[in-house]
Amino acid sequence: MSDMKRVTENAGETARTERIAANLAELRSRISAACERHARSPDDVTIVAVTKTYPASDVRILAGLGIGDVGENRDQEAAGKAAECGDLPLRWHFVGQLQTNKARSVARYADVVHSVDRTRLVRTLGSRVRTENREIGCLVQVNLDPDSEVGELGTRGGVDPRDAMGLADEIVAEPGLSLGGVMAVAPRGEDPGASFARLRSTAAAIRERYPQATVVSAGMTGDMEAAIGQGATHIRVGTALLGARDANVG
Ligand SMILES: *Cc1c(COP(=O)(O)O)cnc(C)c1O
Repeated sequence: MSDMKRVTENAGETARTERIAANLAELRSRISAACERHARSPDDVTIVAVTKTYPASDVRILAGLGIGDVGENRDQEAAGKAAECGDLPLRWHFVGQLQTNKARSVARYADVVHSVDRTRLVRTLGSRVRTENREIGCLVQVNLDPDSEVGELGTRGGVDPRDAMGLADEIVAEPGLSLGGVMAVAPRGEDPGASFARLRSTAAAIRERYPQATVVSAGMTGDMEAAIGQGATHIRVGTALLGARDANVG
């Protein structure tokens, strides 16, 4: 590589680091403001940086800025990035819909799967995780859309709230898996605060039976304030940290 090219690349990387650092500072002040409104501590809200469509170099920058949790929604992309970033002290969160045939791969690198929404996935993940001699945390993904036909292909995933406790029981009973809590994506066309309030009551019911299930994964770039207002402990943020993704991906 020529000296000139190296200088240009370093300048690009510095600019990217500065951009992401500024975004992170702004995100932290949004979180603080929301926490203040709801008498919560910002220490109780973990940022899961969703890095889908962005390169491993961005994951490295985020880790350098103190981010410890990263999220991905597609196995192939996630597996590659997790391997490239194997030297970094990161927890990998799988947040996308998970096909059973990808369970083996996800079991190798994921620390937490946010999208557990059916019995068959619990069984398969458990068996793959045991083969890999690992343990992973699972969140019950709850479908908050009252109008969706649950189980219908093409929905955003999630179990009917009435079935969430049953799935939690199955996760707890599956060796290799631990129950971390619940996760949801707010449906379009409804006030996210109202949606997340339903998640909050499902989370409370599960926590009553399983006190270890403390995680409420809710809120993204557009609705994190509403989620924090309803008790989110983990917000999954991509756009606010890394910029808008192409409209046709992610
Ligand atoms: C992409 C994605 C996010 C992050 O969304 P942003 O709006 O970019 O913050 C959060 N959760 C899930 C499940 C996602 O797929």
